[in-house]
Amino acid sequence: MTATTATRALRGRLVWFVADPHDAGEAAHRFVEDGLLVIEGGVVKAAGEARALLPTLPAAAEVIDHRPHLIMPGFIDAHIHMPQTQVVASYGAQLIEWLNKYTFVEEQKLSQQGHAEKLSRFFLDELLASGTTTAAVYCSVHPQSAEAFFAESERRNTRMIAGKVMMDRNAPEALRDTAESGYRDSRALIDRWHGKGRQLYAITPRFALTSTPEQLAAAGRLAAEHPGCHVQTHINENRAEIAFARELYPDAADYADIYARHGLLGPQSLMGHCIHMLHNEWSAFAETGAVAVFCPTSNLFLGSGLFDWAHARKLGVNVAVATDIGGGTSYSMLRTMAEAYKVLQLQGQSLPAFAALHAITLGNAVALGLDHLIGSFEPGREADAVVLDTGATRAMAHRLETVRDLAEELFVLVTLGDERNVVATYVMGELADRPSFSGGA
Ligand SMILES: [Zn+2]
Repeated sequence: MTATTATRALRGRLVWFVADPHDAGEAAHRFVEDGLLVIEGGVVKAAGEARALLPTLPAAAEVIDHRPHLIMPGFIDAHIHMPQTQVVASYGAQLIEWLNKYTFVEEQKLSQQGHAEKLSRFFLDELLASGTTTAAVYCSVHPQSAEAFFAESERRNTRMIAGKVMMDRNAPEALRDTAESGYRDSRALIDRWHGKGRQLYAITPRFALTSTPEQLAAAGRLAAEHPGCHVQTHINENRAEIAFARELYPDAADYADIYARHGLLGPQSLMGHCIHMLHNEWSAFAETGAVAVFCPTSNLFLGSGLFDWAHARKLGVNVAVATDIGGGTSYSMLRTMAEAYKVLQLQGQSLPAFAALHAITLGNAVALGLDHLIGSFEPGREADAVVLDTGATRAMAHRLETVRDLAEELFVLVTLGDERNVVATYVMGELADRPSFSGGA
Protein backbone atom coordinates (compact mmCIF):
# COMPACT_ATOMS: atom_id res chain seq x y z
CA MET A 1 0.00 0.00 0.00
CA THR A 2 1.15 3.54 -0.66
CA ALA A 3 1.94 4.74 2.82
CA THR A 4 1.72 8.46 2.24
CA THR A 5 0.58 10.23 5.38
CA ALA A 6 -0.17 13.46 3.51
CA THR A 7 -3.63 14.91 4.01
CA ARG A 8 -5.81 15.50 0.99
CA ALA A 9 -9.42 16.61 0.94
CA LEU A 10 -12.07 16.32 -1.76
CA ARG A 11 -14.77 18.99 -1.72
CA GLY A 12 -18.16 18.38 -3.30
CA ARG A 13 -21.63 17.01 -2.65
CA LEU A 14 -20.99 13.92 -0.54
CA VAL A 15 -23.37 10.96 -0.65
CA TRP A 16 -22.74 7.70 1.21
CA PHE A 17 -24.62 5.05 3.14
CA VAL A 18 -24.45 3.83 6.71
CA ALA A 19 -27.30 1.30 6.47
CA ASP A 20 -29.65 -0.34 3.96
CA PRO A 21 -32.38 2.12 2.85
CA HIS A 22 -34.80 -0.81 2.76
CA ASP A 23 -34.45 -1.17 6.54
CA ALA A 24 -33.49 2.32 7.66
CA GLY A 25 -35.24 4.56 5.12
CA GLU A 26 -33.98 8.14 5.04
CA ALA A 27 -31.61 7.45 7.93
CA ALA A 28 -29.63 5.04 5.73
CA HIS A 29 -27.83 7.71 3.74
CA ARG A 30 -25.69 10.71 4.50
CA PHE A 31 -25.81 13.74 2.21
CA VAL A 32 -23.68 16.85 2.65
CA GLU A 33 -24.35 19.57 0.07
CA ASP A 34 -21.02 21.36 0.62
CA GLY A 35 -19.03 18.46 1.95
CA LEU A 36 -15.42 17.62 2.55
CA LEU A 37 -13.90 14.15 2.43
CA VAL A 38 -10.68 14.30 4.42
CA ILE A 39 -8.16 11.60 3.53
CA GLU A 40 -5.00 10.79 5.44
CA GLY A 41 -2.62 8.01 4.50
CA GLY A 42 -5.12 6.76 1.92
CA VAL A 43 -7.96 6.27 4.41
CA VAL A 44 -10.95 8.40 5.35
CA LYS A 45 -10.21 10.63 8.32
CA ALA A 46 -13.48 12.53 8.27
CA ALA A 47 -16.45 13.25 6.05
CA GLY A 48 -18.79 16.14 6.75
CA GLU A 49 -19.50 19.84 6.32
CA ALA A 50 -16.69 21.68 4.52
CA ARG A 51 -17.05 24.77 6.69
CA ALA A 52 -16.49 22.70 9.84
CA LEU A 53 -13.67 20.56 8.49
CA LEU A 54 -11.65 23.05 6.43
CA PRO A 55 -10.26 24.84 9.53
CA THR A 56 -9.06 21.48 10.93
CA LEU A 57 -6.82 20.66 7.94
CA PRO A 58 -3.04 20.91 8.27
CA ALA A 59 -1.55 23.89 6.41
CA ALA A 60 0.04 21.62 3.80
CA ALA A 61 -3.21 19.78 3.00
CA GLU A 62 -4.28 19.73 -0.62
CA VAL A 63 -7.95 20.54 -1.23
CA ILE A 64 -9.40 19.40 -4.56
CA ASP A 65 -12.60 21.24 -5.35
CA HIS A 66 -15.09 19.05 -7.20
CA ARG A 67 -18.15 21.24 -6.56
CA PRO A 68 -20.90 20.95 -7.77
CA HIS A 69 -20.27 17.28 -8.48
CA LEU A 70 -21.31 14.34 -6.32
CA ILE A 71 -18.64 12.37 -4.48
CA MET A 72 -19.55 8.79 -3.60
CA PRO A 73 -17.65 5.72 -2.39
CA GLY A 74 -16.11 3.82 -5.33
CA PHE A 75 -18.50 1.37 -6.94
CA ILE A 76 -18.20 -2.38 -6.32
CA ASP A 77 -18.89 -5.07 -8.94
CA ALA A 78 -19.51 -8.51 -7.41
CA HIS A 79 -19.08 -10.69 -10.54
CA ILE A 80 -17.12 -10.01 -13.72
CA HIS A 81 -14.86 -11.92 -16.13
CA MET A 82 -11.51 -10.36 -17.04
CA PRO A 83 -10.93 -12.66 -20.07
CA GLN A 84 -14.25 -11.63 -21.65
CA THR A 85 -13.54 -8.00 -22.59
CA GLN A 86 -13.57 -9.11 -26.25
CA VAL A 87 -16.55 -11.43 -25.80
CA VAL A 88 -18.96 -8.60 -24.88
CA ALA A 89 -21.66 -8.12 -27.50
CA SER A 90 -21.38 -11.57 -29.11
CA TYR A 91 -24.56 -12.20 -31.06
CA GLY A 92 -27.46 -14.52 -30.79
CA ALA A 93 -26.81 -17.24 -28.24
CA GLN A 94 -27.95 -18.37 -24.83
CA LEU A 95 -25.57 -19.55 -22.12
CA ILE A 96 -24.18 -22.92 -23.26
CA GLU A 97 -23.87 -22.01 -26.94
CA TRP A 98 -22.46 -18.61 -25.98
CA LEU A 99 -19.77 -20.28 -23.86
CA ASN A 100 -18.76 -22.76 -26.56
CA LYS A 101 -19.01 -20.46 -29.56
CA TYR A 102 -17.46 -17.28 -28.15
CA THR A 103 -16.17 -17.43 -24.60
CA PHE A 104 -14.10 -20.61 -24.70
CA VAL A 105 -12.53 -19.42 -27.96
CA GLU A 106 -11.42 -16.09 -26.47
CA GLU A 107 -10.32 -17.58 -23.16
CA GLN A 108 -7.84 -19.86 -24.94
CA LYS A 109 -5.92 -16.77 -26.07
CA LEU A 110 -4.88 -16.11 -22.48
CA SER A 111 -2.22 -18.79 -22.83
CA GLN A 112 -0.45 -16.47 -25.29
CA GLN A 113 2.44 -14.46 -23.96
CA GLY A 114 1.34 -10.99 -22.88
CA HIS A 115 -2.38 -11.40 -23.62
CA ALA A 116 -3.53 -11.65 -19.99
CA GLU A 117 -1.41 -8.59 -19.21
CA LYS A 118 -2.99 -6.64 -22.07
CA LEU A 119 -6.53 -7.62 -21.06
CA SER A 120 -5.86 -6.87 -17.38
CA ARG A 121 -4.65 -3.36 -18.21
CA PHE A 122 -7.67 -2.69 -20.40
CA PHE A 123 -10.03 -4.21 -17.85
CA LEU A 124 -8.78 -2.16 -14.89
CA ASP A 125 -8.70 1.01 -17.00
CA GLU A 126 -12.32 0.40 -17.95
CA LEU A 127 -13.46 -0.39 -14.41
CA LEU A 128 -11.83 2.75 -13.01
CA ALA A 129 -13.21 4.87 -15.84
CA SER A 130 -16.65 3.57 -14.81
CA GLY A 131 -16.06 4.47 -11.16
CA THR A 132 -15.62 0.85 -10.06
CA THR A 133 -12.80 0.44 -7.55
CA THR A 134 -13.42 -3.12 -6.32
CA ALA A 135 -14.59 -6.20 -8.23
CA ALA A 136 -14.87 -9.96 -7.79
CA VAL A 137 -13.09 -11.18 -10.90
CA TYR A 138 -12.90 -14.47 -12.77
CA CYS A 139 -9.61 -14.94 -14.60
CA SER A 140 -9.08 -17.80 -17.09
CA VAL A 141 -8.01 -21.37 -16.28
CA HIS A 142 -4.37 -20.36 -16.81
CA PRO A 143 -2.69 -19.51 -13.50
CA GLN A 144 -0.68 -16.82 -15.30
CA SER A 145 -3.95 -14.97 -16.05
CA ALA A 146 -4.57 -14.48 -12.33
CA GLU A 147 -0.90 -13.70 -11.80
CA ALA A 148 -1.06 -10.98 -14.48
CA PHE A 149 -4.30 -9.58 -13.11
CA PHE A 150 -3.09 -9.36 -9.51
CA ALA A 151 0.19 -7.78 -10.60
CA GLU A 152 -1.70 -5.08 -12.53
CA SER A 153 -4.14 -4.51 -9.66
CA GLU A 154 -1.29 -4.28 -7.17
CA ARG A 155 0.42 -1.70 -9.39
CA ARG A 156 -2.73 0.43 -9.21
CA ASN A 157 -3.31 -0.38 -5.53
CA THR A 158 -6.93 -1.36 -6.25
CA ARG A 159 -8.77 -3.70 -3.87
CA MET A 160 -9.64 -6.66 -6.07
CA ILE A 161 -10.88 -10.17 -5.40
CA ALA A 162 -9.87 -12.61 -8.13
CA GLY A 163 -9.17 -16.22 -8.90
CA LYS A 164 -8.03 -18.62 -11.55
CA VAL A 165 -10.97 -20.55 -12.98
CA MET A 166 -11.02 -24.27 -12.16
CA MET A 167 -12.45 -26.31 -15.03
CA ASP A 168 -11.66 -29.98 -15.74
CA ARG A 169 -14.43 -31.14 -18.10
CA ASN A 170 -16.89 -30.01 -20.76
CA ALA A 171 -14.49 -27.42 -22.10
CA PRO A 172 -11.83 -27.49 -24.84
CA GLU A 173 -8.70 -29.44 -23.93
CA ALA A 174 -6.64 -26.22 -23.85
CA LEU A 175 -8.94 -24.78 -21.16
CA ARG A 176 -8.93 -27.77 -18.83
CA ASP A 177 -6.95 -28.22 -15.68
CA THR A 178 -7.31 -31.30 -13.45
CA ALA A 179 -8.66 -31.67 -9.93
CA GLU A 180 -5.05 -31.92 -8.77
CA SER A 181 -3.47 -29.12 -10.85
CA GLY A 182 -6.42 -26.79 -10.24
CA TYR A 183 -5.98 -27.29 -6.51
CA ARG A 184 -2.20 -26.88 -6.64
CA ASP A 185 -2.22 -23.78 -8.87
CA SER A 186 -5.00 -22.12 -6.85
CA ARG A 187 -3.15 -22.78 -3.62
CA ALA A 188 0.07 -21.30 -5.01
CA LEU A 189 -1.85 -18.17 -6.09
CA ILE A 190 -3.47 -17.90 -2.64
CA ASP A 191 -0.04 -18.11 -1.01
CA ARG A 192 1.32 -15.44 -3.33
CA TRP A 193 -1.58 -13.01 -3.49
CA HIS A 194 -4.26 -13.42 -0.82
CA GLY A 195 -3.85 -10.53 1.61
CA LYS A 196 -0.88 -9.08 -0.27
CA GLY A 197 -1.55 -5.33 -0.15
CA ARG A 198 -5.19 -4.97 -1.16
CA GLN A 199 -5.43 -8.21 -3.17
CA LEU A 200 -7.81 -11.00 -2.13
CA TYR A 201 -8.26 -14.47 -3.58
CA ALA A 202 -11.48 -16.16 -4.66
CA ILE A 203 -11.53 -19.92 -5.18
CA THR A 204 -13.17 -20.09 -8.60
CA PRO A 205 -14.69 -23.36 -9.89
CA ARG A 206 -16.47 -21.98 -12.97
CA PHE A 207 -19.61 -24.03 -12.33
CA ALA A 208 -20.81 -27.58 -11.79
CA LEU A 209 -20.94 -28.27 -15.54
CA THR A 210 -17.22 -27.80 -16.04
CA SER A 211 -15.96 -29.44 -12.84
CA THR A 212 -15.87 -33.13 -11.94
CA PRO A 213 -16.96 -34.09 -8.42
CA GLU A 214 -13.24 -34.57 -7.67
CA GLN A 215 -12.55 -30.98 -8.66
CA LEU A 216 -15.44 -29.54 -6.63
CA ALA A 217 -14.15 -31.57 -3.67
CA ALA A 218 -10.69 -30.07 -4.22
CA ALA A 219 -12.22 -26.58 -4.36
CA GLY A 220 -14.08 -27.33 -1.12
CA ARG A 221 -10.80 -28.44 0.45
CA LEU A 222 -9.20 -25.16 -0.58
CA ALA A 223 -12.12 -23.22 0.92
CA ALA A 224 -11.83 -25.13 4.21
CA GLU A 225 -8.08 -24.56 4.32
CA HIS A 226 -8.40 -20.85 3.49
CA PRO A 227 -11.52 -19.57 5.26
CA GLY A 228 -10.54 -15.96 4.49
CA CYS A 229 -10.85 -16.54 0.75
CA HIS A 230 -14.06 -16.07 -1.18
CA VAL A 231 -15.61 -18.75 -3.36
CA GLN A 232 -17.20 -17.68 -6.64
CA THR A 233 -19.19 -19.71 -9.11
CA HIS A 234 -22.41 -19.77 -11.18
CA ILE A 235 -25.79 -21.34 -10.39
CA ASN A 236 -29.31 -21.52 -11.81
CA GLU A 237 -28.74 -19.13 -14.69
CA ASN A 238 -30.30 -20.99 -17.60
CA ARG A 239 -32.73 -23.92 -17.90
CA ALA A 240 -30.49 -26.03 -20.14
CA GLU A 241 -27.58 -25.45 -17.75
CA ILE A 242 -29.68 -26.60 -14.79
CA ALA A 243 -30.81 -29.77 -16.58
CA PHE A 244 -27.20 -30.61 -17.47
CA ALA A 245 -26.02 -29.97 -13.90
CA ARG A 246 -28.65 -32.31 -12.51
CA GLU A 247 -27.62 -34.95 -15.06
CA LEU A 248 -23.95 -34.67 -14.05
CA TYR A 249 -24.74 -34.83 -10.32
CA PRO A 250 -27.69 -37.24 -10.07
CA ASP A 251 -27.17 -37.78 -6.34
CA ALA A 252 -27.54 -34.11 -5.43
CA ALA A 253 -30.95 -32.98 -4.18
CA ASP A 254 -30.78 -29.86 -6.33
CA TYR A 255 -28.23 -27.55 -7.98
CA ALA A 256 -27.39 -25.71 -4.74
CA ASP A 257 -26.83 -29.06 -3.07
CA ILE A 258 -24.09 -29.86 -5.61
CA TYR A 259 -22.09 -26.99 -4.14
CA ALA A 260 -23.25 -27.49 -0.56
CA ARG A 261 -22.14 -31.13 -0.45
CA HIS A 262 -18.66 -30.08 -1.63
CA GLY A 263 -18.28 -27.41 1.03
CA LEU A 264 -18.78 -24.53 -1.38
CA LEU A 265 -21.88 -22.87 0.04
CA GLY A 266 -21.15 -20.43 2.85
CA PRO A 267 -21.09 -16.73 3.72
CA GLN A 268 -17.99 -16.17 1.55
CA SER A 269 -19.66 -17.80 -1.48
CA LEU A 270 -20.60 -15.45 -4.33
CA MET A 271 -23.15 -17.35 -6.39
CA GLY A 272 -23.70 -15.81 -9.81
CA HIS A 273 -27.27 -15.45 -11.18
CA CYS A 274 -29.69 -17.46 -8.96
CA ILE A 275 -32.57 -16.94 -11.39
CA HIS A 276 -34.37 -20.28 -11.44
CA MET A 277 -34.20 -21.15 -7.75
CA LEU A 278 -36.15 -23.89 -5.98
CA HIS A 279 -37.59 -23.25 -2.54
CA ASN A 280 -35.01 -25.52 -0.89
CA GLU A 281 -32.20 -23.73 -2.69
CA TRP A 282 -33.30 -20.33 -1.39
CA SER A 283 -33.53 -21.88 2.08
CA ALA A 284 -29.99 -23.26 1.77
CA PHE A 285 -28.77 -19.77 0.82
CA ALA A 286 -30.55 -18.21 3.78
CA GLU A 287 -29.16 -20.82 6.18
CA THR A 288 -25.57 -20.74 4.97
CA GLY A 289 -25.34 -16.99 4.30
CA ALA A 290 -24.36 -17.62 0.66
CA VAL A 291 -24.64 -14.50 -1.51
CA ALA A 292 -26.96 -14.42 -4.54
CA VAL A 293 -25.34 -12.22 -7.20
CA PHE A 294 -27.80 -10.41 -9.47
CA CYS A 295 -26.39 -9.63 -12.94
CA PRO A 296 -29.20 -7.79 -14.76
CA THR A 297 -27.59 -6.83 -18.09
CA SER A 298 -26.25 -10.35 -18.51
CA ASN A 299 -29.54 -12.00 -17.56
CA LEU A 300 -31.36 -9.90 -20.15
CA PHE A 301 -28.71 -10.18 -22.86
CA LEU A 302 -28.43 -13.98 -22.64
CA GLY A 303 -32.20 -14.31 -22.20
CA SER A 304 -31.64 -16.15 -18.92
CA GLY A 305 -34.52 -14.79 -16.85
CA LEU A 306 -35.52 -12.38 -14.09
CA PHE A 307 -33.89 -12.31 -10.66
CA ASP A 308 -36.47 -12.16 -7.85
CA TRP A 309 -34.89 -9.70 -5.44
CA ALA A 310 -38.02 -9.24 -3.29
CA HIS A 311 -38.19 -12.99 -2.68
CA ALA A 312 -34.50 -13.17 -1.75
CA ARG A 313 -34.93 -10.26 0.67
CA LYS A 314 -38.02 -11.79 2.24
CA LEU A 315 -36.04 -14.94 3.01
CA GLY A 316 -33.09 -12.99 4.37
CA VAL A 317 -30.73 -14.02 1.54
CA ASN A 318 -27.72 -11.76 1.01
CA VAL A 319 -27.82 -10.16 -2.44
CA ALA A 320 -25.02 -8.50 -4.40
CA VAL A 321 -25.19 -6.84 -7.83
CA ALA A 322 -22.80 -7.18 -10.74
CA THR A 323 -22.13 -6.52 -14.40
CA ASP A 324 -21.05 -10.06 -15.44
CA ILE A 325 -19.06 -8.76 -18.38
CA GLY A 326 -18.92 -10.41 -20.99
CA GLY A 327 -22.43 -11.90 -20.69
CA GLY A 328 -23.27 -8.46 -19.35
CA THR A 329 -23.23 -5.50 -21.68
CA SER A 330 -21.90 -2.59 -19.63
CA TYR A 331 -18.97 -2.03 -17.29
CA SER A 332 -20.98 0.71 -15.58
CA MET A 333 -22.64 -0.12 -12.27
CA LEU A 334 -25.03 2.78 -12.94
CA ARG A 335 -26.15 1.19 -16.21
CA THR A 336 -26.34 -2.13 -14.38
CA MET A 337 -28.77 -0.68 -11.85
CA ALA A 338 -30.87 0.93 -14.59
CA GLU A 339 -31.36 -2.57 -16.00
CA ALA A 340 -31.94 -3.98 -12.51
CA TYR A 341 -34.79 -1.50 -12.16
CA LYS A 342 -36.38 -2.80 -15.36
CA VAL A 343 -35.92 -6.46 -14.35
CA LEU A 344 -37.72 -5.70 -11.09
CA GLN A 345 -40.43 -3.67 -12.83
CA LEU A 346 -41.22 -6.72 -14.97
CA GLN A 347 -42.00 -8.54 -11.71
CA GLY A 348 -44.02 -5.75 -10.10
CA GLN A 349 -41.10 -4.75 -7.88
CA SER A 350 -39.35 -1.44 -7.67
CA LEU A 351 -35.93 0.00 -6.91
CA PRO A 352 -35.58 3.52 -5.51
CA ALA A 353 -32.41 5.42 -6.43
CA PHE A 354 -31.10 5.33 -2.85
CA ALA A 355 -31.47 1.53 -2.80
CA ALA A 356 -29.69 1.21 -6.15
CA LEU A 357 -26.78 3.41 -5.06
CA HIS A 358 -26.59 1.60 -1.72
CA ALA A 359 -26.41 -1.72 -3.58
CA ILE A 360 -23.36 -0.73 -5.64
CA THR A 361 -21.48 0.73 -2.65
CA LEU A 362 -22.16 -0.34 0.94
CA GLY A 363 -24.58 -3.12 -0.04
CA ASN A 364 -21.98 -4.94 -2.13
CA ALA A 365 -19.30 -4.25 0.49
CA VAL A 366 -21.50 -5.95 3.11
CA ALA A 367 -22.26 -8.86 0.77
CA LEU A 368 -18.53 -9.33 0.16
CA GLY A 369 -17.78 -9.07 3.89
CA LEU A 370 -15.58 -6.03 3.24
CA ASP A 371 -17.69 -3.22 4.72
CA HIS A 372 -15.08 -2.63 7.43
CA LEU A 373 -12.70 -1.64 4.60
CA ILE A 374 -14.68 -0.19 1.68
CA GLY A 375 -18.12 0.96 0.56
CA SER A 376 -18.62 4.06 2.71
CA PHE A 377 -16.98 7.26 3.91
CA GLU A 378 -17.02 6.33 7.58
CA PRO A 379 -13.66 7.10 9.26
CA GLY A 380 -11.02 4.43 8.76
CA ARG A 381 -12.39 3.17 5.45
CA GLU A 382 -10.05 3.01 2.47
CA ALA A 383 -10.58 6.21 0.50
CA ASP A 384 -11.87 4.84 -2.81
CA ALA A 385 -14.19 7.41 -4.33
CA VAL A 386 -15.95 8.34 -7.55
CA VAL A 387 -16.80 11.90 -8.58
CA LEU A 388 -19.97 12.14 -10.66
CA ASP A 389 -21.41 14.88 -12.84
CA THR A 390 -25.15 14.16 -12.92
CA GLY A 391 -25.58 16.53 -15.88
CA ALA A 392 -22.77 15.11 -18.00
CA THR A 393 -24.90 14.41 -21.06
CA ARG A 394 -27.22 16.75 -22.92
CA ALA A 395 -30.25 14.60 -22.15
CA MET A 396 -29.38 14.42 -18.47
CA ALA A 397 -28.68 18.15 -18.11
CA HIS A 398 -32.01 18.84 -19.81
CA ARG A 399 -33.88 16.43 -17.55
CA LEU A 400 -32.24 17.88 -14.43
CA GLU A 401 -33.91 21.24 -15.13
CA THR A 402 -37.12 19.80 -13.70
CA VAL A 403 -35.93 17.71 -10.76
CA ARG A 404 -37.12 18.89 -7.36
CA ASP A 405 -34.95 17.03 -4.89
CA LEU A 406 -31.94 14.80 -4.39
CA ALA A 407 -33.91 11.55 -4.75
CA GLU A 408 -35.13 12.63 -8.21
CA GLU A 409 -31.67 13.76 -9.28
CA LEU A 410 -30.18 10.44 -8.17
CA PHE A 411 -32.90 8.52 -10.00
CA VAL A 412 -31.97 10.36 -13.20
CA LEU A 413 -28.33 9.43 -12.52
CA VAL A 414 -29.15 5.77 -12.00
CA THR A 415 -31.52 5.55 -14.96
CA LEU A 416 -29.56 7.51 -17.58
CA GLY A 417 -26.05 7.45 -16.15
CA ASP A 418 -22.93 5.53 -17.14
CA GLU A 419 -19.16 6.08 -17.44
CA ARG A 420 -19.76 9.48 -19.10
CA ASN A 421 -20.84 10.81 -15.70
CA VAL A 422 -17.55 9.85 -14.05
CA VAL A 423 -15.40 12.95 -13.61
CA ALA A 424 -12.68 11.28 -11.55
CA THR A 425 -11.96 8.08 -9.65
CA TYR A 426 -9.76 7.96 -6.56
CA VAL A 427 -8.01 4.84 -5.30
CA MET A 428 -7.00 5.22 -1.65
CA GLY A 429 -7.06 8.96 -2.14
CA GLU A 430 -4.95 8.91 -5.30
CA LEU A 431 -6.44 10.05 -8.60
CA ALA A 432 -6.58 7.11 -11.03
CA ASP A 433 -5.25 7.72 -14.55
CA ARG A 434 -7.93 8.00 -17.17
CA PRO A 435 -7.38 5.93 -20.29
CA SER A 436 -7.33 8.06 -23.41
CA PHE A 437 -9.68 6.55 -25.94
CA SER A 438 -7.96 6.00 -29.25
CA GLY A 439 -10.52 3.68 -30.80
CA GLY A 440 -7.82 1.14 -31.59
CA ALA A 441 -5.71 -1.33 -29.64
ZN1 LIG B 1 -20.29 -15.02 -14.99
